[in-house]
Amino acid sequence: MNFTKFPRRKYLQGPTPIESMPSLSKALDTDVNLYVKRDDLLPGSAGGNKTRKLEFCIADALEKGADTIITCGAVQSNHARLTASWSAKEGLECHLLLEERVKGSYKEDAGGNNFLFELLGVKSIGVVQGGSDMMGEMEKKAAELTAAGKKPYIIPGGASNTIGATGYAVCAEETMNQLNEMRLAMDHIVVPSGSAGTHAGMVVGMTGVNGNIPISGVNVSRPKDVQEEIVYKLAVATAERLDIKGGIEREEIVCFDQYVGPGYSLPTDSMVEAVKLFAKTEAILLDPVYSGKAAAGLIDLVRNGHFQKNSNVLFLHTGGSPALYAYMDTFRQD
Ligand SMILES: *Cc1c(COP(=O)(O)O)cnc(C)c1O
Repeated sequence: MNFTKFPRRKYLQGPTPIESMPSLSKALDTDVNLYVKRDDLLPGSAGGNKTRKLEFCIADALEKGADTIITCGAVQSNHARLTASWSAKEGLECHLLLEERVKGSYKEDAGGNNFLFELLGVKSIGVVQGGSDMMGEMEKKAAELTAAGKKPYIIPGGASNTIGATGYAVCAEETMNQLNEMRLAMDHIVVPSGSAGTHAGMVVGMTGVNGNIPISGVNVSRPKDVQEEIVYKLAVATAERLDIKGGIEREEIVCFDQYVGPGYSLPTDSMVEAVKLFAKTEAILLDPVYSGKAAAGLIDLVRNGHFQKNSNVLFLHTGGSPALYAYMDTFRQD
């Protein structure tokens, strides 16, 4: 794959580690060998997957002469935190629109990512009702800023357009190179599937390098068929952008939706168990909204015998741990 024709900032200092998780495998009493790709350790305040996407999105903004970034997310959005983070680094103004996906969930004085928005110097935070047309809201904000003499650039929610997803095609290639170097044959990769750029980009990159490792997404909000269609569409468009021959097959997109629970960002027992287990066995901090639910999926699939005996399974840890500090009561309950 050739990424050199796209504007790109260099936010990564090198590949993120791939580590084995022997203590977790032991705690689960499984003969499946569990590994983790530590994208939680990516640079950018407190780490996480959006840094890979923002290498391309912010580079595009800078190339277009922008001096201001507008983006959106949920009230504890890691994407909003990392966009604020890289905007600060680049000397760009950052404006956030937060969607109250759970009614009454925005609290000005909340901890976690919300606290960090302010610390990272965002210029404005607007809060809109769940289900709002977020792109429409961001366009309104952009018009307002343009009228005030600014040059705004809109990054969509989760940076999940073809520009952002390119960052995860890069990750798939990076992962294959590491596995080759480690002489480690991976049988399966499990990723969280949210705004879809991570999942789509990984599938595209895996196809682009002929890696042939099946990738499963664990949903954090939508039903299986809806999410698979969103991931598929983005994967097809991203493969086109990257000029990947053969394109993407619909069957390559597989999502599990049974770990969402009552809805986006709402805690589940299996998420709480997964977060505690990863912390106690591997000293790895997950988050309640994404990586915690994805890990709950991973654990359940292991217990269900979904993966073959002695197979190697890689969990993509997309970060998000600051959100833990907005959910302390959830983890202290039992
Ligand atoms: C955004 C996010 C995801 C989901 O990635 P998408 O590309 O939106 O599907 C997973 N984990 C964390 C911590 C995130 O912030």
